[in-house]
Amino acid sequence: MHACSHIFDSISPLIMKLPIDPNSIKGFLDHEEGMALFNKALIYTKRGPCLEIGSYCGKSALYIGSAAKENNQTLFSIDHHQGSEEQQPGEEYFDPDLINDSGKGINTLPYFLETIKRAKLKDTVSPIISSSEEASINWQQDLAMVFVDGGHSLEAAMADYFLWHKHLIPGGLLAIHDVFPNPEDGGRPPFEIYTLAKESGYYKEWPMIKSLAFLEKLE
Ligand code: MG
Repeated sequence: MHACSHIFDSISPLIMKLPIDPNSIKGFLDHEEGMALFNKALIYTKRGPCLEIGSYCGKSALYIGSAAKENNQTLFSIDHHQGSEEQQPGEEYFDPDLINDSGKGINTLPYFLETIKRAKLKDTVSPIISSSEEASINWQQDLAMVFVDGGHSLEAAMADYFLWHKHLIPGGLLAIHDVFPNPEDGGRPPFEIYTLAKESGYYKEWPMIKSLAFLEKLE
């Protein structure tokens, strides 16, 4: 167990296991979803490392990384750190704090690295600063858990699924964020890869937590 500040004592037993307050990190992951990721990672990283696609400012890395650390495992965290389409200047999810030096795009890397440093996860979280496609080219390592939370275009979601799920060990966990069975709740590509995985016959499903889906690869 890790030291934690008494200021979290009254919040929840889980937050006490986290080295810093998740609300102090920019991001789109709901706390209940984060708790589910933490609890799953605590189980699945007993068998190997985890890889996440989409680091942003490190919120999910806090939850998953804190669990992986308990098992002395690694969390590989892939992101080009230039933001997705909807996070660019003028778009719906643009955050002016993240503007890059050119003023024409965003750079989330300083925020991500600061999160990892504050959470004392530098020895657990291995940042991979590249696109998902580039990172996959020479990838050899078996993975016990893959968390897909990258671009929401159909092309990006499909690539993230096909490039990474094949590295999951039997009994490993595929987690997908922003899965909306009802199209009125949000975009479809994460739901489409979730459906593909389910219909492949290679996975059994765990209950969803909000928009977070969990599929375990069959042995
Ligand atoms: Mg997401």
